[in-house]
Amino acid sequence: MPHHRAPAWHNPVFIPGPTNLPEALRKAVDMPTIDHRSTAFPEILHPTLEMVRQVLRGRAAEVFLFAGTGTLGWEAAITNTLSPGDRVLACENGMFSRKWIDMCRRHGLEVEEIRVPWGEAIPAARMGEILAEDRERRIRAVLATHNETATGVRSDIAAIRAVLDAADHPALLMVDGVSSIASMPFEMDAWGVDVAVTGSQKGFMLPAGLAIVAFSQKALAMLEAARLPRTYYDIRDMRAAYPAGGYPYTPPLGLINGLRASCEMLLAEGLDNVFARHRRIAEGVRRAVDAWGMPLCAASRNVASDTVTAIRTPEGFDANRIVGRAAEVYHVAFGAGLGEVAGRVFRIGHLGLMSEAMALSGIATAEMVMVDLGLPVTLGAGVAAAQDYWRRTLPEALRMAA
Ligand SMILES: *Cc1c(COP(=O)(O)O)cnc(C)c1O
Repeated sequence: MPHHRAPAWHNPVFIPGPTNLPEALRKAVDMPTIDHRSTAFPEILHPTLEMVRQVLRGRAAEVFLFAGTGTLGWEAAITNTLSPGDRVLACENGMFSRKWIDMCRRHGLEVEEIRVPWGEAIPAARMGEILAEDRERRIRAVLATHNETATGVRSDIAAIRAVLDAADHPALLMVDGVSSIASMPFEMDAWGVDVAVTGSQKGFMLPAGLAIVAFSQKALAMLEAARLPRTYYDIRDMRAAYPAGGYPYTPPLGLINGLRASCEMLLAEGLDNVFARHRRIAEGVRRAVDAWGMPLCAASRNVASDTVTAIRTPEGFDANRIVGRAAEVYHVAFGAGLGEVAGRVFRIGHLGLMSEAMALSGIATAEMVMVDLGLPVTLGAGVAAAQDYWRRTLPEALRMAA
């Protein structure tokens, strides 16, 4: 069949990870083989670890890089600090928090689970009550998904730290920051995060393939006592090898080199500028959604994510049709609803490499698809709302430019 459209890869993706790749990072990942036992390796590894600490705002933390993805990061977090039968406190408010809880159970941990409707944030106050009632201090760790990618909901990690402190509870605070770190404010030290987990394919704008984990000194003090089985992701092997510039296995060197370039790019832009850019792009997308007359999956604007927007489609309409038609007809990828909200929401990912112009193309495409499918959306309504917001909120220097 003759093909009259541009190949799919000419369009940006609007899935909430993997993100679009900056050209400079694609090139940084693409490198010739070098001997990872030569001095060239620590010249790449050491500055990368240091810059990841800066991105996490975790001066006191130690960072470890595994060939893997965020899921492996969860596993490294729990197996390096906990023992079979240990109790953890967690909240299910979407697919990713659910999967982390499931992983804990598969490892023989006892999970005290708070369930809230998908779309809500983690109820820190409820966690505080449970921690205060835990007089025997049986809860060894609190697990929190900072940004629930399935529902586009951000939880307040500082508030969870505050309830831990108020209860004077010694549990570790482990945070899945996979879809928040390097895109939304994250304060490892200030929030007292003990283990932070992310992957290369979200805020760091790289291909999938690296699990990035950071441990606080308090979490590192648990390594010897932790009895959960682990070999490949045993932090002790990483920790022993890094100072001399070694690595316990063959390092995914291209990705680590890419991570170095990514950190340089993020720090050159300035983290606060990176966060402000994501916030501004996200707010434009939310204004477009308002103009479509559709609700966010997020229970309130207050908890809406700045990296992914999940949009509830009208009752009785299969939201997967939007994702399917966008892919087939316009070669644009949006995120499908997952789990409890499958078929009820579609998602626009806007993390990592994303500009107003790119986001406008996504909003415009979503409008064409929705009109094609008979939804009561006016072509251009969302585009205009986003254009208006972005024009009015241009940084001062740009607004004045000739
Ligand atoms: C993407 C993601 C993960 C990890 O998924 P991987 O496919 O293993 O990288 C975990 N948590 C959240 C919140 C995510 O968005």
